[in-house]
This record gives sequence, structure tokens and C-alpha cells, in this order.
Amino acid sequence: MSVSTRPSPFVIAVDGPSAAGKGTLARRVAAHFNLAYLDTGLLYRAVAARLLRAGIDRPDEAAAIAAARAVSAGDLDLPELREEAVSQMASKVAAISGVRAALLDLQRTFAAAPPAGPSGPVAGAVLDGRDIGTVVWPQAQVKLFIHADLEQRARRRHKELIERGGESIYARVLQDMRERDARDSGRSVAPLTPAPDALVIDTSALDADAAFAIAVAHIGSRCQDSAEP
Ligand code: C5P
Repeated sequence: MSVSTRPSPFVIAVDGPSAAGKGTLARRVAAHFNLAYLDTGLLYRAVAARLLRAGIDRPDEAAAIAAARAVSAGDLDLPELREEAVSQMASKVAAISGVRAALLDLQRTFAAAPPAGPSGPVAGAVLDGRDIGTVVWPQAQVKLFIHADLEQRARRRHKELIERGGESIYARVLQDMRERDARDSGRSVAPLTPAPDALVIDTSALDADAAFAIAVAHIGSRCQDSAEP
């Protein structure tokens, strides 16, 4: 099955906390349905990286807003975006409403006019983040909220860091993740929360294939009228 071309793009919002498996799932869903894909966390990471590169290690509001306004596609390839210092700073700048406002247009433009992929035009987009289904694109035809137990997510992140050849202390990963969760869920602007109409998938006891199968079945049920035979 694939998603057929529509006058308005078909948008799938994938939200959830870090290391719940939403990035892997979102990329796979995008490839499966030939949709453009945007990891919106990279935008907040790019703002954080710009600040850290400028020697600013506190989330200074004016500097963060200026950095957010200056973010361009080229920033999304900065090599340090996945570093822990960037992750922590990203969740701090993400609580600044001016930063979120500055990044909103970029995300909405992507959803409204998804760029063509390597195999040509696409029928829509998958955006993953924290507030896609609630704030960025509440009209998304499909909303998925991917979560998992904190300890399970910390174990996954710890394993991933070790496999990448880095050093990692599980207790530290757990603590960092707990802090980031608290900031993302507790902020007053666009907090991490499932949209009322999102399908919530708990991946604590699911592997990537099982989560993908649930997502594909749900997407299929949401776009039956546009499915190709
Ligand atoms: O998804 P990722 O872990 O890369 O996101 C980094 C940080 O960016 C998150 O901890 C969160 O604070 C912020 N973020 C956000 N809204 C989004 C995407 C990411 O607040 N849509």
C-alpha cells in the first residue's frame, strides 16, 4: 500500500520522548510510504550547537532566539549535534517561546510543501518531535505518540553510545534523560504530551519491527480512501 497524491500533503506526526524509538520508526514509515522526513529535534540541536560554538553555555534568551532565526539546512549536518552537551542545551533552549516561534515556520513550510526525495515527488511528510501533533501540525492525518519506560530508554541510549565506541555510564545516562524528560514535559510552552487523537505506542516491550507493523496498520486504517490497490 502507498499513500496517493492529494491536493493537501498527507502528514504523519510522530511525537514522544528521546530514545523511545520514534526516529527509527518515523524514518522507516517515511521510506515505506514515500514521504519526506524531518527530524525536528535537529533544529533545536542546531540552535544549541550554534550557542555552544559561540562559547555560550547557558541558555541566554536573546542569543538563543537570534541563533534560532539564523538556523539553516546546513546546520542540520553539524557533526556535534548528537553530543550530550548539545542534547541538554537543546532541551533548555526549546523551553524559550521565542526559539519555538522562530523554528515554527520552517517546520510548517516543510509539512505544507514537502521537498521531493531522491526518487521524485512525495505525497506528504513525516515530522518527528515533541509537539508536531499538538502545535506544529495539529491537522496531521495521522498522529503517533511513541514512548517507553524511562529505564528502558536509558538502557537503549547507553547501549547505543557504547556501540558507537564512546564512553557511557548508565547512571549518568539515566539521570540526563530524566532531567531532559522533566524539562520537555514540564515547560509551559508546547510541552511534550500526546495529542488527544494520537495513537500511543509503548515500545518498552516491542522491537522496531513490531512497532513499525502497528504504525503501518494504523496509517492504513487512517488513509483507506487514498490507498492504492
Ligand atoms: O528529538 P531530540 O532528542 O533530538 O530533540 C532534542 C531536544 O529538542 C528535545 O529534548 C526537546 O527539548 C527539543 N524538541 C522540542 N520540540 C520538538 C523537537 C525537539 O522541544 N519538536
